[in-house]
Amino acid sequence: MRVLELETENVRNYVNHLFEMVKSRNPNEVEFHQAVKEVFDSLVPVLVKNPTYIKLRVLDRMVEPERFITFRVPWVDDEGIVQVNRGFRVQYNSSIGPYKGGLRFHPSVNASIIKFLGFEQIFKNALTGQFIGGGKGGSDFDPKGKSDMEIMRFCQSFMTELSKHIGPDLDVPAGDIGVGAKEIGYLFGQYKKLKGAYEAGVLTGKGIDSGGSLGRKEATGYGTVYFVEEMLNEKGYSFTGSTVVVSGSGNVSIYAMEKAMELGASVIACSDSSGYIYDPNGINLDTVKRLKEVENKRIKEYVKAHPESTYVTGWKGIWTIPCDIALPCATQNELDFESAKHLISNGIKAVGEGANMPSTLDAIDEFLASGVLFAPAKAANAGGVAVSSLEMAQNSARIFWSQEEIDAKLKVIMKTIYKKSMEAATEYDFPGNLVVGANIVGFMRVADAMIEQGVI
Ligand code: GLU
Repeated sequence: MRVLELETENVRNYVNHLFEMVKSRNPNEVEFHQAVKEVFDSLVPVLVKNPTYIKLRVLDRMVEPERFITFRVPWVDDEGIVQVNRGFRVQYNSSIGPYKGGLRFHPSVNASIIKFLGFEQIFKNALTGQFIGGGKGGSDFDPKGKSDMEIMRFCQSFMTELSKHIGPDLDVPAGDIGVGAKEIGYLFGQYKKLKGAYEAGVLTGKGIDSGGSLGRKEATGYGTVYFVEEMLNEKGYSFTGSTVVVSGSGNVSIYAMEKAMELGASVIACSDSSGYIYDPNGINLDTVKRLKEVENKRIKEYVKAHPESTYVTGWKGIWTIPCDIALPCATQNELDFESAKHLISNGIKAVGEGANMPSTLDAIDEFLASGVLFAPAKAANAGGVAVSSLEMAQNSARIFWSQEEIDAKLKVIMKTIYKKSMEAATEYDFPGNLVVGANIVGFMRVADAMIEQGVI
């Protein structure tokens, strides 16, 4: 026992030392540090049991991206004025497949955000069981208030540079915040024109007529609910009859709400970056879809169609609403310690992360310490990228699967992620801790492939 304690102490020192190095090599990149810390803390028991990972410096290698590209994105707005944005792509890890991960267009995008997302993507993609490496990209371009033609010109300029670095067997971007089927369409068109070939598998999340997959749009939200339902069922709970709060009103949030409702839950609140709506009768999803998917309006407009609902400015207050299940589906660090405390004192049963890193580290600790069932993003929101991988498979084979086929595959993938993460958590003495379990499963798959492929 004493020996194990000593070894654990040594490994903890090694991991802490490595974390300090990550911080000094990537100064001020707080989101990136946060994502690394969460993974590192989970891996101590694995490194104690498998010292080869330390000997071969697997973690030291994994935390350093294989490649990090930044580039200028100049474009002309509708007034004829030249605008300049910054483009990014991190090609983080290609040991289990081509780099794979979305593009985010949002003014907050910087190196830290791209690296945190790219680092998370490595483990998430490994968890899906598919053959996809980890990558991420984006720009500080703000699509809000831009005309369609401005978005198109921006996407074309962005792709003119990005096209030099991607390809169906090399790096396959997709959407994320600010990038949906419309942007992917413009990006794909420009890539096709530059290459002079129809390489559909270079991007995922395409429209159906451009080689997209049925079920991709819904996959992240549906997948999150499938995962959480699995977690709930094990404790004898279910979405059926539960009250649910879902933050955000973008692609992930809308389809998480849809599936939760289909399973018989009452979804009573959702939000956008300006504020949240609370509808005691249950959110009317058709109204949210019309506002967000068709009219490009603010969520505040919802109350006009549903006078019994209320709108509150500011997005944080959504977590003070009493509910059984919370699904943060907006953005990173949207759910902090104080919000976790509110949810816990209101009797929350489960939290499922649809967004990437929506809970702060102290919020996660608080949920786990209070016995709240917690489904971490890497596992719970992996359905989106999993169906992206199915889109790549269809493009390669020149086949087209039905919605039912995709949904059945998605369900199996989410159930398998849950099962494997739970098993790993038990094996490494953190029973029920899906944060630790998911990080371990993702890490070991990538680490073993890296070892097989030598020091490269
Ligand atoms: N942006 C999504 C994610 O965070 C999807 C990535 C993809 O489909 O490649 O996983």
